[in-house]
Amino acid sequence: SLIKPWKYFDRTKVYMADLESGLHYLLRVELASHKILEGPELSTLKDFITVLSKLFPGQQPAVKLLETLQEWLVSLPLDKIPYNAILDLVNNKMRISGMFLTNRVEWVGCQGSQPQYRGYPCSLWTLFHTLTVQAATHPTMHILPGFDSPQILLQVIRKYIHYFFGCRECAQHFEEMAKESMDKVTTLDDAILWLWRKHNEVNNRLAGAPSEDPMFPKVAWPTPDHCPTCHEEIKGLHTWNEKEVLTYLKSYYSVDSISLKYSE
Ligand code: FAD
Repeated sequence: SLIKPWKYFDRTKVYMADLESGLHYLLRVELASHKILEGPELSTLKDFITVLSKLFPGQQPAVKLLETLQEWLVSLPLDKIPYNAILDLVNNKMRISGMFLTNRVEWVGCQGSQPQYRGYPCSLWTLFHTLTVQAATHPTMHILPGFDSPQILLQVIRKYIHYFFGCRECAQHFEEMAKESMDKVTTLDDAILWLWRKHNEVNNRLAGAPSEDPMFPKVAWPTPDHCPTCHEEIKGLHTWNEKEVLTYLKSYYSVDSISLKYSE
């Protein structure tokens, strides 16, 4: 049935089950509507998988799948790839050992109080924040030719959203925000804060909208009860202490604090 039993979870944690369910959805559902990948879509997919293969903080079988997919995509001398060939690899048709991606959708921190709420878009934000923190704390991308700019991860995320995100209206909004200020990002820490700021702008815009899960109201995040030092009042006006926010984000989205509860 569509209604799954409620899973108790800690609102101060990131769950691997959300990241892996999101990756499953991205690779087996979202991409599946593109029967043939070519041109800018293909190069975007290659870049996105390259970034994930370096930064996805998952368990070994999922990381191995991303690495294998990355090597295969980059080495193929074709300018068109049928989606079905990608799916065969994702499903490990060649039976390479130690490589596996769950094919279950198991939302935990991203579960909604009704099936129409949360889920995949929540897992995508979670993935993107985790990647920006990974990039700044475990820099492994600068060794890749063409991936050495502190902006590159955000630019790859931007292209993924533009070409593939199923919510077209979201993609348009995100592109507007990116056009306005993404090119001003100059450090890896800046990239973390840029995404945090833009996510709050989206929360602010969507507060009270029909897509809002009443059990998960859209608020400026992190709230004072989760990060008191992130909030300051200057002459009666609320301001963020961005140094504290950065520290909070680096801890909240760090690989070491991802919970494996409910993941396979
Ligand atoms: P989400 O907003 O999905 O957040 C997931 C989790 O991230 C939260 O539970 C919280 O733990 C954490 N979080 C919240 N805010 C921040 C922050 N500022 N920084 C770091 N972590 C944070 N929906 C629309 O209707 N219109 C749009 O234009 C739109 N644009 C989108 C653009 C993108 C790129 C994405 C990924 C999604 C977009 N969505 C849009 C979907 C929407 O933002 C939510 O993902 C969806 O409504 C589910 O909300 P949620 O309650 O699960 O929380």
